[in-house]
Amino acid sequence: MDENIRKRLHEMRKNGYKITPQRQEIVNAFLDSSRKLPLSAEEVYMKVKEKYQNISLDTVYRNLAVLQNLKIINRVNFHDVKSRYELNPGGDHQHHMICLTCGSAEPINFCPLKLLSENNFAAEKNFEIREHTFELFGYCSTCRERAIIDNA
Ligand SMILES: [Zn+2]
Ligand SMILES: [Zn+2]
Repeated sequence: MDENIRKRLHEMRKNGYKITPQRQEIVNAFLDSSRKLPLSAEEVYMKVKEKYQNISLDTVYRNLAVLQNLKIINRVNFHDVKSRYELNPGGDHQHHMICLTCGSAEPINFCPLKLLSENNFAAEKNFEIREHTFELFGYCSTCRERAIIDNA
């Protein structure tokens, strides 16, 4: 997955996209993160600040938006609070199964819109779909096992 991201960043540079050192450092924050949990903008900011002390949270937000447009990262909308971000190795959008206990977000290799498109509900209303969200909330296997042990 990391190889994929590096390769795509390299191609973008070749094609004239500006991957500034700060942008690279933001991507590094994701590459360095061993956690499965997607990172919030604040967490990315804290990480990038270690190297670029003068960077502002605003700049981080702006660069996250740029990287999102380039499909290098995905924004994940959790139902609770703030947006989180993760690397997007496939260059396509992703849906998730999000654990309500530990907050881990497991990507789902499936897009329900592709199934729904067989039905012409949007076209019938002459509606152009630009965005959609689909996230599943529940309990991951680790947390479920822990709960069973705790209750034993
Ligand atoms: Zn969990
Ligand atoms: Zn989708």
